[in-house]
Amino acid sequence: MDDLRIQNAKVYINGQFEYTNVYVKDGVISRLASELYPASEIVDATHKLVLPGFIDPHVHFALDCGKNHSADDFYTGSIAAAYGGVTTIIDFLDPVDNVNDLELAYQRRLKEAQASVVDYQFHATIKNPKGDLEAFVKKVLELGMTSIKLFTTYSDSGRRTFDPQIKELLQLSRQYGVLITAHIENDDMIKIKSTDTFRDLSLSRPSICETSEALKLAGFVKETGGKLYMVHLSSGETLKRLKDEYLDLLNKQFFIESCPQYFVLSNDCLQQSDGFLYTMAPPIRSLHEQLILKNMIDDVFTIGTDHCPFMKAEKNHIFLKDISLGIGGVEHAFNLLYQIFSDQIIDKMTKNSALIHRLYPQKGQIAVGSDADLVIYKPENNYSIKTNHSRCDYDLYQDFPSAGYVDSTIVRGRFVIRNQQFENGKGHLVKRR
Ligand SMILES: [Zn+2]
Repeated sequence: MDDLRIQNAKVYINGQFEYTNVYVKDGVISRLASELYPASEIVDATHKLVLPGFIDPHVHFALDCGKNHSADDFYTGSIAAAYGGVTTIIDFLDPVDNVNDLELAYQRRLKEAQASVVDYQFHATIKNPKGDLEAFVKKVLELGMTSIKLFTTYSDSGRRTFDPQIKELLQLSRQYGVLITAHIENDDMIKIKSTDTFRDLSLSRPSICETSEALKLAGFVKETGGKLYMVHLSSGETLKRLKDEYLDLLNKQFFIESCPQYFVLSNDCLQQSDGFLYTMAPPIRSLHEQLILKNMIDDVFTIGTDHCPFMKAEKNHIFLKDISLGIGGVEHAFNLLYQIFSDQIIDKMTKNSALIHRLYPQKGQIAVGSDADLVIYKPENNYSIKTNHSRCDYDLYQDFPSAGYVDSTIVRGRFVIRNQQFENGKGHLVKRR
C-alpha cells in the first residue's frame, strides 16, 4: 500500500497540467494514476495545483562576512524556503584559493547545513587561485559537487579570479564536465568612493559593468568550448547583448540565472529614505532595463534568489562602504514570479535547475521514481504577500502582489509545511550526477 495519495489535483507533469492522483511510497513518487488506490494517508487537493518542489540554486545561509553574518542560518533559512515551496537549496562553500583548503571548507559547510529542513547541496567557491587548477577541479568532483563559483570582481578583498585562470577553468570544465559558475561584473569599472552613499549604488556599478564582462566571458566560453553559468543576471541590456552576439551559446554553453528582485524592484527604491534596505550586488536596475528583462524571460534558464538578508541595523548606514550588501527572498520567489509569468516560470524553478546542477531526474520533476518533492499551491486572485519566516527583521516584498500561496511543501514524501504551517523536516545532502 502507498504511504500517501494526493487526489483531485491538477498536477504539473512534463510541462503541462493533468488531472490525476499522485502516490508516494518510501519518499518517492510511486505512481500517477486517475484510479483510486488505497494509501495510508489521503490528502485532497481540489482547486489546487501540485508542482514539483522548487530548487533554489543560489542561497547564502550562515554567511560569515567578517563584521556581519547573513540573518538566516540553515535552519531558519530553510524553513523560510519551505514556506515558499522550495524543497532543495544549493548554497556555497567559503571561497578558497587552493585545493588543500577545499575539503575543510566542504566539511565546515556540510556540518552547518545539517540543520536544514529541506534537501541541500553546494557550489565550491574559488578565489584568486594558486597552484594546480586541475587538481582543484578533480577534488570538487570527488567531494560530490559539480560546480565551481568564481568572482570576476572583489579584487579589493582578494576574491577576484583573473582572466588566465578563468580560461583555464573553462578548459577544465570542458574536459571534466564541471560547471563554472560566475559572479560577473567588470572589476576595473566599479568605482566606489568612501563618500558614496546607498543612493550612488547604481552609478557605482552601472549595468555596463555587467554587460561588458559578460560579453568578455562569453568570448572565453566560445574560445575554450567550456560551460559557464552566470549567476544573478541583473540587467536586461546584458541579456539582450548576449543574445545578439552569442545566440549559439545562450543556455547551451552560457547559462543565465536571474533573481526575482531584478523583475520586481527598480533603482528608484534606492533613492527613498530607506534605500539602504535595497542594496545588493549587482544592484537593482532601471524600470527600462527591468522591462527588457521581463520581455526576455524565455532566455532566462533558471531562477535563484541570492537570498542573503542582513538585519536592518546592519543595513542602516549612509555610506556604501558600511552597508552589508544583500537581501532576502527565498520564501517569495515563486509567488512573485508566478504572478508575472504564470506557468512559464515553473520549469525555471524546477527542471532547468535540476538539469544544470545535476540533480535530475531525482529532483525537478513529478515522475514515477523521482523524489516526492511536491508543492501544493493554491492560486488566488487579488492576493498579496503577508508572511515572512526569515529571521531577518524586514522584508521588502510585504504586500507585493502574489499569484496565491503555498499550501503545503513535501520533501521526500514528508510534509514540511502543511496547510501553511511548519511541521518538521530533516534535509538530506543530495547526490549530484
Ligand atoms: Zn550570491
